[in-house]
Amino acid sequence: MEDCLFCKIINKEIKSDIVFENDSVLIFKDISPQAPVHLLAVPKEHIDSILEVEKLDSGLLKELIDAVSRIALENELDKDGFRIVINTGIGAGQSVNHLHFHILGKRKLSWPPG
Ligand code: AMP
Ligand code: ZN
Repeated sequence: MEDCLFCKIINKEIKSDIVFENDSVLIFKDISPQAPVHLLAVPKEHIDSILEVEKLDSGLLKELIDAVSRIALENELDKDGFRIVINTGIGAGQSVNHLHFHILGKRKLSWPPG
């Protein structure tokens, strides 16, 4: 989609630090990390948010979860725990309207999140 930051990252028009890529999913480092490990997992297809359920079929969701799980294990995030965050809407802090899973780890994560 035109003017979508993450679509530009997916299309390699904007550089990013990619840690995982397959046909349907890209995972890259967040430019402003909020934890020692802070990655963003995105579907390559442009999907505005988790609310666009008609675009989120079970195949794509499985691909996303498989990729997140694999990268979490590669980074040894299973040892001390990690968090997956999907900010949805302005009030929750969603600043990029392309569905993305934050993967945060390697620091103490308090609950409830702010
Ligand atoms: P959210 O605020 O939940 O929509 O998350 C958007 C995330 O994208 C933020 O954590 C930003 O730090 C991150 N971000 C913005 N621009 C870039 C970029 N060029 N490369 C990597 N991450 C980015
Ligand atoms: Zn997009």
